[in-house]
Amino acid sequence: PNPATSVKLVLLGEAAVGKSSLVLRFVSNDFQENKEPTIGAAFLTQKCTIGERTIKYEIWDTAGQERFASLAPMYYRNAQAAIVVYDITKPASFIKARHWVKELHEQASKDITIALVGNKYDLVEDDTEEESLRKVSVEEGKGLAEEEGLLFFETSAKTSYNVNDVFIGIGSKIPEA
Ligand code: GDP
Ligand code: MG
Repeated sequence: PNPATSVKLVLLGEAAVGKSSLVLRFVSNDFQENKEPTIGAAFLTQKCTIGERTIKYEIWDTAGQERFASLAPMYYRNAQAAIVVYDITKPASFIKARHWVKELHEQASKDITIALVGNKYDLVEDDTEEESLRKVSVEEGKGLAEEEGLLFFETSAKTSYNVNDVFIGIGSKIPEA
């Protein structure tokens, strides 16, 4: 078998958008309704097979609280990939996501692969046109991703909708070592 390509990946985004839940879903195929907040950062690894290739993700899941924001450069400085997460029911989290994308483009590696992820899709999937919890449209998310050259997904860590696709999408853009 081919040796695994190691990929350092960092998750960024406002507190409570579901960063740790996306990682828990990807790594353990599990979900916790009341996940305890991340303090500082958590490190996890998970392998992912894409066609003939095996990618070993080395995942830094950062804390979203403002008091930890100054630590973020430590985690994204050497990252080959980043997932910037917002909550599609929380417009402020989308504004925060814009800021993270800008900071990554200014400060992170030039060839970093970034995925923009609008999480908590399960909260809006049964909504009617008259009444919706959705506060960030698909068009807004896609628009930002197109402007900034990012992959784009809407996900649910709760139902697992599109979660693996994020990691497969990122892995497909990582050049052969
Ligand atoms: P983080 O601070 O960004 O790491 O967010 P967490 O992963 O700790 O999640 C914050 C809260 O949102 C927790 O109560 C989770 O159970 C909940 N949550 C996370 N992802 C989803 C999702 O896709 N759908 C729903 N309905 N809740 C979610
Ligand atoms: Mg967390």
